[in-house]
Amino acid sequence: MHPYEQRLADNLPDVLARVDAAKSRGRFGQAVRLVAVTKGHSVDAVRAAVAAGLTDCGENRVQELADKVDALGRRSVTWHLIGHLQRNKVRKAIELFEFVHSIDSPRLARELSKEAVAAGIIVRGLIQVNASGEVAKGGIDAAGDTDVAIAAVREIIDLPNLEIGGLMTMAPFVAEESVLRATFRRTRELLERSAAAIPAFTGRELSMGMSNDFEIAIEEGSTMIRLGTILFGERTK
Ligand SMILES: *Cc1c(COP(=O)(O)O)cnc(C)c1O
Repeated sequence: MHPYEQRLADNLPDVLARVDAAKSRGRFGQAVRLVAVTKGHSVDAVRAAVAAGLTDCGENRVQELADKVDALGRRSVTWHLIGHLQRNKVRKAIELFEFVHSIDSPRLARELSKEAVAAGIIVRGLIQVNASGEVAKGGIDAAGDTDVAIAAVREIIDLPNLEIGGLMTMAPFVAEESVLRATFRRTRELLERSAAAIPAFTGRELSMGMSNDFEIAIEEGSTMIRLGTILFGERTK
C-alpha cells in the first residue's frame, strides 16, 4: 500500500466520525462535503483519496492544479481551486477546476465572468470573505459594515456566467476557539443577510473549516470543509 493510502486508511474513519459528531452537536442538520486538499502533495495523494472514496480535491495554485490535471485527467475527481487566483491566470484556470472557493474581490469576479462569457461556460464558485478583520487576509470584508459587504456580494451575483454557490472563509490560523467560532458565525450571518437582501442569490454553501478548526466550523454551519494536513500529513513542497 502506498504511504498515502495507509495514512488515509488509518485516519479517514476517525475524521469522518469527528465530522458526524460535530454535525450532531450543531443545530443546522446540514450535509458536509469533504474537499481533500492535495496541494503540496504528489498525484499519489489524489489517487489515494479516490481509492478511499473521496470525490473532491482542492489545490491552491493554478500551475500545480494544471500538473495534476495533466497527470490524472480533468474528470478524475471534482477539482476545487481554493487559493488566491491572479487575474492573469483566470483564462487558464477556468478550464481546470469545477469549483473556485476563492473569489475574493469584485475585480476578480468581473474577470472570471468575462472569461466565462468568452469561453461560453458557467463558472461555479464561492465568494471569499474576510470575517476575522486581519488586514493581510483577502476577501470581502465581513467584519466591517454589513451594507458594504452585501453591496459587494450583489455586484458579484449580478455578473453573467458566474454561479455563486455561497461563501468561503479562512479563520485565523492560531486562534482561541471563541475567535474561530466568531469568524465562522460572522460568515454565516453575512450569507443569511445577503440571501435575504438579494433574491437572485440562492447559493447556501459555506466553505469553512480546515484541519485545525473543522469541527467548530461544522458546528457553525459549514457545508464544505477543506482538509489537507489531517488527511495527508505535513506538506513537502
Ligand atoms: C492549505 C489550505 C487548506 C488545508 O489546510 P490544512 O490545515 O492542511 O487542512 C484549506 N483551505 C485553504 C484555502 C488552504 O489554502
